[in-house]
Parts: sequence; C-alpha cells; structure tokens
Amino acid sequence: MTDSNSPPAANQPWKDLLTQAFSARAYSYSPYSKYKVGAALLTKSGKVYTGCNIENVGYSATVCAERTAIFKAISEGETEFEAIAVATENGGLPCGICRQVIREFASELTIIVGDIEGRYQVFTLSDLLPYSFGPEDLISS
Ligand SMILES: [Zn+2]
Repeated sequence: MTDSNSPPAANQPWKDLLTQAFSARAYSYSPYSKYKVGAALLTKSGKVYTGCNIENVGYSATVCAERTAIFKAISEGETEFEAIAVATENGGLPCGICRQVIREFASELTIIVGDIEGRYQVFTLSDLLPYSFGPEDLISS
C-alpha cells in the first residue's frame, strides 16, 4: 500500500465529499505518527468545510482532521451537518473524542470513511457511538 492522495473510485455516491477529504489530507501535519488524515464536512446549507490532522510535539495538543473541519464550520456559524467524509491510508475510523464532538451537533450524522485504495464504508454516528451522552442529558428540572 502506498501513501498517496489517490481519489476514490468514480462510481461512489459520496465521491465528491471523499475527494475533498483526500485533498485536505495533503495538508496533514503529522511528522510524528506519519498518519495523514483529511476530512470534509457537508453542512445542511450545502457548504463543505475541510480539515486535516495537526500534530504537536506535546502530543495532547494534537487535533484530528474531523475536529478541525467541525470547528472551522462552527466558527463560521454553521451548526447543522449532513455528512462527514474521512480520508486515511487504511480506512481508520474516527477516534472517540471526535465521535463525542460530532454527537454535540449531529447525533445521526452520516460518516463516510475511505482509504487510498478507493474502498469506503458508510456509518451513522449512532453506529459508532451507541448509547451516547448528548446535550439533552444535561437538561435539569
Ligand atoms: Zn479524532
């Protein structure tokens, strides 16, 4: 398996979003893990926000591609999301922290995870984070 930013196969329904995730992956700052990740977040208004993983020598300061894209969108006033595509070398799934961040805004978000061979899987957030803790759980009487 080579490390490239190959676009996914042409007949995929989420091709455009995955292609944008792979384009964002090219900007990954990952000198420590060498694990490049890109993400493309589609809002309900039709905009796409992209992100890449950004590592830090103080490892806990590292941020994932998914959160980069989500925080970019939130910081520009977008809070309703349709889907997020995630591009990695081997189809690695979003981490637990990203799943919880997604949960804050979109409990049924469609999550498309693609690899550099053109394979992809489609999930919903509730597939990846069942029995989750969300904003409605904090509402007090
Ligand atoms: Zn993550």
